[in-house]
Amino acid sequence: MTASDRSRSGTAPDRRRWDELLARLRPQLSAGAKLTGEESLATKTTMRVGGAARVYAEPASVADLQILLGEAKAHGVPVFMLGRGSNLIVPDEGVDGLVISLAQEAWAGFVPTGDGRVWAGAGLRLKNLCGLAAKAGLVGFEFLEGIPGNVGGALRMNAGAMGGWIFDVVEEVRLMTRDGEVRTLAKAAMHVDYRHCAELHDAVALGALLRPATQADAAAVKRQMDAYAQKRHESQPREASAGCIFKNPPGHSAGRLIDESGLKGERVGDAEVSRVHANFIVNRGRASGADVLELVRRVRARVKEAKGVDLEPEALLYGKSWHDVL
Ligand SMILES: Cc1cc2nc3c(=O)[nH]c(=O)nc-3n(C[C@H](O)[C@H](O)[C@H](O)COP(=O)(O)OP(=O)(O)OC[C@H]3O[C@@H](n4cnc5c(N)ncnc54)[C@H](O)[C@@H]3O)c2cc1C
Repeated sequence: MTASDRSRSGTAPDRRRWDELLARLRPQLSAGAKLTGEESLATKTTMRVGGAARVYAEPASVADLQILLGEAKAHGVPVFMLGRGSNLIVPDEGVDGLVISLAQEAWAGFVPTGDGRVWAGAGLRLKNLCGLAAKAGLVGFEFLEGIPGNVGGALRMNAGAMGGWIFDVVEEVRLMTRDGEVRTLAKAAMHVDYRHCAELHDAVALGALLRPATQADAAAVKRQMDAYAQKRHESQPREASAGCIFKNPPGHSAGRLIDESGLKGERVGDAEVSRVHANFIVNRGRASGADVLELVRRVRARVKEAKGVDLEPEALLYGKSWHDVL
């Protein structure tokens, strides 16, 4: 067995640990839940690189989720939530832990409350949120059009575009703590910032009550969304990516700094700094996680050298800290 085989499948005692977790979980979860070992994450992320989750689960209910979190806590297993995987770089060795995705229909609710507000489940794709809101003539979600995540991932990242971010339209968030307790937090009690929501660092977002800005006719909302979609179409690459790789440093555009450092088209394997938007690293086909990480290092070093600015990653290194690899 080579070193890389070993890191992929784990050593025998590691493997036993994950098999035991699978065996303990299987009889406790409902029949509708999905539970697998060594589930590929490349196919579940937009960058399409990296290895597998040692244990992967799609709970079908709140009770399933409580069981998953409870077992993980009792046995010291790290838990990682997975949304649409659109802001993640998965390392080639995969993720040593339990990856939980709210991918089942039960988590994707869109329920107008009758007073102009709407409940959106964490598993609802932003694309569907925008489409359903447009149909209902709800104004205020248009800026989310084209962000390829779901509501849970968008809350955790405080996703934003076109001058707005999701917490602009959030009234309250329902979440589950790592102890399995379900709580509702008003926005005023939460700490949100650029691409960050402190309360969701550990907790699982179950959904949010959203307040649109106002009502309008469906055609007008759709027109605004189409205009944003067109803007995105012209300014972002179409290839596989994880969105913007770096945060904009205060007073700067990360994309411009990378472009002015001469890095458009820079390549490691099949990972390439996009020629369309320099803050995107695209997968030209067969990139590995290691290719992407090497390119991230190279871009940071060259921008530091040319511009004297330290770029901080915005995309997340799944299951790890950037400090471990940069
Ligand atoms: C082409 C492209 C364009 C993009 N454009 C934008 C943009 O304009 N603006 C922007 O902000 N982002 C953009 N992104 C990045 C990304 O789409 C957003 O950050 C999005 O909100 C991530 O959602 P996700 O469901 O994919 O989350 P994931 O990438 O799966 O996860 C992101 C983080 O959220 C956590 N998470 C996921 N679900 C939950 C949950 N239920 N509870 C708690 N934590 C959870 C994960 O553990 C992880 O830490 C873009 C990405 C791509 C590929």
